[in-house]
Amino acid sequence: MAGRYLVHTFGCQMNAHDSDRMEEVLRANGWTCVADEPASDRRADVDLIVLNTCSVREKAEQKLRSEVGKLAPLKEKNPGLVIAVAGCVAQQEGERLLARVPHLDLVIGPDNIPELPALALEQMAGAPPRARTVFDLDAPRFLAAAPRAGEAPVSVYVTTMKGCDERCSFCIVPYTRGPERYRPSDEIVSEIARWVEAGAREVTLLGQTVDSFRDPALPPPESDDPDESQFPSLLRAVAERVPGLVRLRYTSPHPRHLTPSLVRAHAELDVLAEHVHMPVQSGSDRMLKRMIRRYKRAEYVERVARLRAARKGLTLSTDVIVGFPGETEEDFEATLDLVREVGFVGLFGFKYSPRPFTPALKLEDDVSEATKSERLARLFDVAERCTRAHLATLVGTTQAVLVEGPSKTQGLVEGRTRRNEIVHVETAASVSIVGEVLDVEILRANKHSLFGRPTAAALASLPARPRPNAAAPRRRALPLVL
Ligand code: SF4
Repeated sequence: MAGRYLVHTFGCQMNAHDSDRMEEVLRANGWTCVADEPASDRRADVDLIVLNTCSVREKAEQKLRSEVGKLAPLKEKNPGLVIAVAGCVAQQEGERLLARVPHLDLVIGPDNIPELPALALEQMAGAPPRARTVFDLDAPRFLAAAPRAGEAPVSVYVTTMKGCDERCSFCIVPYTRGPERYRPSDEIVSEIARWVEAGAREVTLLGQTVDSFRDPALPPPESDDPDESQFPSLLRAVAERVPGLVRLRYTSPHPRHLTPSLVRAHAELDVLAEHVHMPVQSGSDRMLKRMIRRYKRAEYVERVARLRAARKGLTLSTDVIVGFPGETEEDFEATLDLVREVGFVGLFGFKYSPRPFTPALKLEDDVSEATKSERLARLFDVAERCTRAHLATLVGTTQAVLVEGPSKTQGLVEGRTRRNEIVHVETAASVSIVGEVLDVEILRANKHSLFGRPTAAALASLPARPRPNAAAPRRRALPLVL
């Protein structure tokens, strides 16, 4: 008999996506999420708590110990409770975690998610604590969603690959997620078609270096040339075979794989949104070399220019690390200069911190914490100026907004433009407009978002068709094709 579970997620989009997959396999095997039950019942008789951990940027194990520590009173009251750790920390530490973290029963790696229900039942039956962290190198498994009509949120993530073959010197992902393994194009396209049939309007293709995709169903490319990537063909297949899809995005591309054929796809495929999140990490060639990013600043800028030439109005966002070992004031100024030059409309900035098993451990972490904090604040200041300047140019224009759901502010709904700007929309529409693409007149720019009202014509002609579930959370566990 299956039990009741809770999944807590820490970290990146990939981890959030893995949490969805865990919920899906648990539900497909008869488990119930206690978060779906009335608040008073929650946790009282929970059988399984999964902590899905991230080790990319946090002091991961410390955080994990503290989270497990918080669960100790619950475990004392309910000794049958299974506490599991999943995600990157699980993969990284394996058996060692069982020895070091009291109260832990199960350690499960990202590639072992399909085994979670069976492993949890073993623990509930009294098996000794267990770690299962084996990469599925020979026969990669990808869980595919099979949503029913009305269950889909407006915007969904679809996995294209797992692992990473790059070796950026600061990054633990190649160690915790293993080498690149790809999902066949046909499977990806079929899953997207199912989502769209169930009401989804927008899909984001998800992979650590999503643009290095190669279709495992096809013969391997003849050379290592990044332009041999089959990612543009995947985009074309989605565009051709899922005509009902309104917007297609992907995250995150590695600049090295942003090839002429991918740029051509942006010029030719209307479904591709006019926004790319392309991590740059630094604007200094010296730092890029130390980070083993395998491109130079000028190459990054040139790729940005090609994208913008291919698709008018395309915007970019990025990730930046400050305080990488050896970063001088001059290197950091080069990064600020790049942010201004490209005019990123969104930026995630992080202070470097050494991660276990990464090549950068050999470099001295010689930028002081105070300098890292000061540089991060200056970086955010420059980035926010770029964002504000960009948003201000949109006031008074009319933008096509895909409505995703209610806004946090009462009486408003929230959506995004094709370029990914968040728009809060005031509307008196008497029918649900969730899932609709509305022409919205932009009245105001906030710090990170826009505010507007639909044009009269937009509300007068809402099509009759099945709509996504307005009450559904933005992400949701669903039945699987197993
Ligand atoms: S491309 Fe670099 S930063 Fe991104 S996951 Fe791979 S190793 Fe990490």
